[in-house]
Amino acid sequence: MRYLPSFTLESRTVLVTGAGRGIGRALAIGMAEAGADLILVSRTKADLESAAAEIERIGRRAWVFTCDVTKKEDVMSVFQQIDEQAIALDILVNNAGMNIRSKALEVTDEEWSTIMNTNLRSSFWFAQESGRRMKERGGRIITIASVAGTVALRTGVVYAATKAALIQMTKNLALEWGTHNINVNAIGPWYFKTPLTENLLSDDDYLSDILAVTPLKRVGELPELVGPAVFLASEAGGYINGQTLFVDGGMTIQG
Ligand code: NDP
Repeated sequence: MRYLPSFTLESRTVLVTGAGRGIGRALAIGMAEAGADLILVSRTKADLESAAAEIERIGRRAWVFTCDVTKKEDVMSVFQQIDEQAIALDILVNNAGMNIRSKALEVTDEEWSTIMNTNLRSSFWFAQESGRRMKERGGRIITIASVAGTVALRTGVVYAATKAALIQMTKNLALEWGTHNINVNAIGPWYFKTPLTENLLSDDDYLSDILAVTPLKRVGELPELVGPAVFLASEAGGYINGQTLFVDGGMTIQG
């Protein structure tokens, strides 16, 4: 008997939301490097096409679907195209997200709706439509939450609420869909340099405040998120269900 399980994603098809840049792009390309074919979703076609070109250079297939994840008709159209092209979806990575860092007393109703719809509501729609298609043959769902979903940070109350909700949604979906052999997990990143965070991280005072509470004394590198995501998506992660894996340099272990 061999004890080392497989980490490959060969013959798997993965849908990544927000795949055009930042963490989503790294996850999509990294999963292609692990052997998967990719369905790439976001609003900016040029970003998706450049990620698709990189994936095709690796020798994997990439489908590009432009979609505003806050619009249900866009989300349903993605799944309609998946069905029409008879693509069997194995893995969903719910990654698209954004933040508006207003203080609680300044949050407008419009900001509330934009952050909630982008980070939380869209993730449920993608999970629901993926779950419908995975329930006969199993699958994996991985949601990119955040350290902000478990620790109170000055990142904005609405963003934090969406990320906490995603962590709980992960547990409830894992409970409901375990019998369908669908594993549902989340990843909680601390700081990684992407278009979302690069302005913050280029402010020396902000960066030193972050590093002061980071036991590893550095921000994360994107391949260090790809590794845990591939693990959760592969045979190696087969008995992990309903968990949030914090990829945080040790940030959340502190009292
Ligand atoms: P980026 O801003 O770099 O990328 C966000 C991606 O999401 C883009 O591809 C964007 O594409 C897409 N997106 C945003 N809004 C929508 C929308 N309405 N419809 C479709 N796609 C959308 O962010 P990151 O890569 O940094 O963040 C990715 C995820 O990781 C987010 O959920 C974020 O909260 C989380 N995270 C990030 C951390 C970090 O340090 N970077 C730390 C903790 C969590 P487009 O605009 O073209 O639609």
